[in-house]
Amino acid sequence: MRQDSASVVIIGAGQAGLSVAYYLQRLGLRAGTDFAILDRGPSTGGAWQSRWESLRLGSAHRVHDLPGMKSVGISFETADRSLPARDVVRSYYEEYEEFYDLRVRRPEHVNAVFDRDSDLMVRTQSAEIATHAVVNATGTWGAPFVPYYPGVREFSGLQVHTSTYRSAEDFRGKRVLVVGGGTSAIGFLLELEGVAAHTVWATRRPVDFLDHGSLDLEDAVNAVAQQDAASRQGHALPSIVSGTGVPLTRRVASGVHRGVLVARPMFSRLEPDAVVWPDGTSQPIDAIVWATGFRPDIRHLSPLRLHEKEGGVIVSTGAAERDPRIFFAGYGPTASTIGANRSGRIIARQVFSTLGDRAAPTTQP
Ligand code: FAD
Repeated sequence: MRQDSASVVIIGAGQAGLSVAYYLQRLGLRAGTDFAILDRGPSTGGAWQSRWESLRLGSAHRVHDLPGMKSVGISFETADRSLPARDVVRSYYEEYEEFYDLRVRRPEHVNAVFDRDSDLMVRTQSAEIATHAVVNATGTWGAPFVPYYPGVREFSGLQVHTSTYRSAEDFRGKRVLVVGGGTSAIGFLLELEGVAAHTVWATRRPVDFLDHGSLDLEDAVNAVAQQDAASRQGHALPSIVSGTGVPLTRRVASGVHRGVLVARPMFSRLEPDAVVWPDGTSQPIDAIVWATGFRPDIRHLSPLRLHEKEGGVIVSTGAAERDPRIFFAGYGPTASTIGANRSGRIIARQVFSTLGDRAAPTTQP
């Protein structure tokens, strides 16, 4: 196993990790020497590289530019929205990494971060990197959340989560139950229309259709406030999907009108080939799409014991309360592209002041 060191290790090269890297560079730290960025993905694009082919950037999926990119004339605003979002974001991040020479190391999967004397050790599949500070920017894509309902294990049909959804074609001719009240569930229902034999939609709460046609997660004040409160108190973070509301675009409004986007209150249980509603009626189904959100993907931090008994990690101003050497970017209230940009700037400054005169590494990684 290779032994390395860097003053700072950033785990994850999505919007949050790249944003921290940009601001660290502006503070005079050098990518590849003073700080290292590690990412387990095969390519650029953060979690976007893994999203399904039919997902497009548009009014419901508004991605903010990375810091410093608009000024060089490259912007998502001029991106070709007819192309898959995963390709657009992948090539945009690629240009960004090249332009700022960020030297992301990939694929480099961080398995664990643990204490080593007064420093931290970041262990990947091929290296151990000693460091003074870790910025965790691993997002949520790797930690899909599926709620438990009686009978779910016995259900014999196809089950996918947003993170494993590939294409409507996988559901051709099937009777499909879509679960979840966010934009992903709505996107799935619309693209399954005419491909699946039938769809039915179940949500935990009535869907909050916003009377404007675009969603900016930063404007979703309730969702951000819920996340902020939970992360300050060390509670398990609620899914951001649950608090955002859904923009009533023309496409969505017409889906509501056609009856495709009319949600039922949650079912009470599943049978091997059916869903059973609270009134006891059962409806045959062949497949379930769980668009039920994600949780922070931070299993690799478990050796540091950052969790409270309430289930979450207390992160009040960017760093973990239990270990101020661990910073969280794009976490909780900043889990959106604009939030990730903002946390990048704040965290880079905090990391810089935590390092003090240790900003340079002892050996080159
Ligand atoms: P990610 O993009 O998930 O990046 C995390 C990176 O960390 C990944 O590249 C991953 O490979 C890496 N990583 C994870 N674990 C490890 C490990 N152990 N070792 C090494 N590397 C690791 N937000 C918006 O603002 N607008 C939208 O339109 C929008 N649409 C969304 C649509 C969907 C379907 C979903 C699920 C989310 C959406 N979001 C949207 C939220 C969005 O994911 C965030 O805004 C943002 O892109 C997340 O950036 P991030 O850097 O925090 O995480």
